[in-house]
Amino acid sequence: MTTPADKSAEKALKKYRRLGGEDLVAQLRALGYDAVYVPTREKALEEILARVPAGAKVGAGGSLTLGQIGALEALRERGHEVLSPLGADPSSEEKTAMRRRALTADVFLTGVNAVTADGEIVNLDGTGNRVAATCFGPGRVIYVLGINKLTGDLEEALSRVRNFAAPANAMRLGLDTPCADTGFCHDCDSEGRICNRLVIHLRAGRGEHSVIVVGEELGL
Ligand code: SF4
Repeated sequence: MTTPADKSAEKALKKYRRLGGEDLVAQLRALGYDAVYVPTREKALEEILARVPAGAKVGAGGSLTLGQIGALEALRERGHEVLSPLGADPSSEEKTAMRRRALTADVFLTGVNAVTADGEIVNLDGTGNRVAATCFGPGRVIYVLGINKLTGDLEEALSRVRNFAAPANAMRLGLDTPCADTGFCHDCDSEGRICNRLVIHLRAGRGEHSVIVVGEELGL
């Protein structure tokens, strides 16, 4: 049942998200990104498709956000070769080979673990294929993030990544790590540790870097 209170809360939240998202986009543009704010995942998919040229080979890191948007399926339907380890046997050589090939794709799609209000994009990887591709790989990189990834400063972003995103993803993936039991980081030595490569993007730099900010909660 949706009450009038629910409706007024939703209306206020929508405006709050839009204002925060638009401020972030302005900041990202000042840092050299092709950034855009969209209110919904459906609009996000349109923006992604508009940025992938016909015939382009697309690489992607494992991303719940991209899965929720249905981006990889839509690209495959449009005839693109999509190189993503998602769906492959986690221990297989095929998965490693796919990750290597994704580094030389034309376009790389990725989610984001956190972004600061100043536009610093923070990603933490276990293997490192995702952050490697965003630092120097495909000529065009497209980051896609829900508004829930927006934090205040870098300290808050790093705390979000270590004490929320990583434990929540460890739970989602069924990993045997202490954070999956407690919900916070123990800086563990587990075999399944997913926190090995931390990258903070300060600016877009060389290449074409797009950021699509979505006014919905997406990913973890
Ligand atoms: S370092 Fe270990 S305990 Fe900490 S978040 Fe990563 S996997 Fe979890």
